[in-house]
Amino acid sequence: APITPHRPIQALPDQLISQIAAGEVVERPSAVVKELLENALDSGATQITVRLEEGGVKRIAITDNGRGIAPEQLPLALARHATSKIASLSDLENVGTLGFRGEALASIASVAAVTLTSRTADAAHAWEIVGSHTGGVAPSSGAHGTTVDVLDLYFNTPARRKFLKSEQTEFGHCAEVVRRIALARPDVSFSLTHNGRTIDHWNVSEMARRSAHILGDGFAQARLALDETAGPLRLHGFAGLPTASKARADGQFFYVNGRFVRDKLLVHAVRAAYQDVLHGDRFPSYVLALDLDPALVDVNVHPSKIEVRFRDSRAVHQFVFHAVQRVLAQTSATAFGNVQA
Ligand code: ADP
Ligand code: MG
Repeated sequence: APITPHRPIQALPDQLISQIAAGEVVERPSAVVKELLENALDSGATQITVRLEEGGVKRIAITDNGRGIAPEQLPLALARHATSKIASLSDLENVGTLGFRGEALASIASVAAVTLTSRTADAAHAWEIVGSHTGGVAPSSGAHGTTVDVLDLYFNTPARRKFLKSEQTEFGHCAEVVRRIALARPDVSFSLTHNGRTIDHWNVSEMARRSAHILGDGFAQARLALDETAGPLRLHGFAGLPTASKARADGQFFYVNGRFVRDKLLVHAVRAAYQDVLHGDRFPSYVLALDLDPALVDVNVHPSKIEVRFRDSRAVHQFVFHAVQRVLAQTSATAFGNVQA
């Protein structure tokens, strides 16, 4: 049997703690893209560019025109458990930003070579910090906003690097993350390049256009607009008609307070609402946004925040089910007739 070395209990070094956390927070390039995009949106950006090289493994560079970070705060941005988004438990319970854990940049910086460049509205020029929170801050150039440049992901953790898939697969995951986020925020323009080639570009528009752009004409021509409110709950967006259903569940976008989620309860509620109009082996397409008081939902369930927990999950299930079922039923004549009408 292997011999476990017996050692006294010791506190782990900071870098190692971050590398362990990185396993959860940034398990692959697309997770880095998600964290950086969420930071850009939290900073109030209206224009975001994503540049990837070699599926994001070689490079992920995200630039925004948001409020930026003051030079004296740059080291803190890369420090673990440091955040400008919450300061107390009551802030946590009412959190309205996408981020709040204060560990993404520190985790990323522990497994990649990071340069953070930022310029606030009142600064004469940009400042940058390289490597980690212990690095110094130096003058730099650049427009108002922030650029996070992430090179050579997992260069210092070869075991993790081995789990990465092909460049195309990793790129595909990154592009999916960009699409999910762009779909939630038609008020922000996004562009995505891979190895210098422009893959996607979305100008500021309305939800109707952004979703048509991202889900395609098939969806745009066969969908029902929905906007229902009941008490503290509002559900809005588009439910695809049966003709826009797919053999795979890749046209399903559900957001809770602007955050893309894949939640069993919500998937079930929508699925049940489609039961009368859709055969069992087809998957409905939809873009649905549920907005509610942040105090009624816990987003602190998992580091990636893709699962949420509702305070009253039965009420949410009922509401979503009925709202979707109602819109499908109202127009069932259309659904089974001329869907272009
Ligand atoms: P969190 O988003 O949970 O606060 P992060 O590690 O992702 O933690 O970011 C740490 C802090 O750095 C944020 O709280 C924010 O103040 C700042 N920050 C990160 N990215 C940006 C950005 N793109 N623009 C402005 N500030 C940023
Ligand atoms: Mg963040």
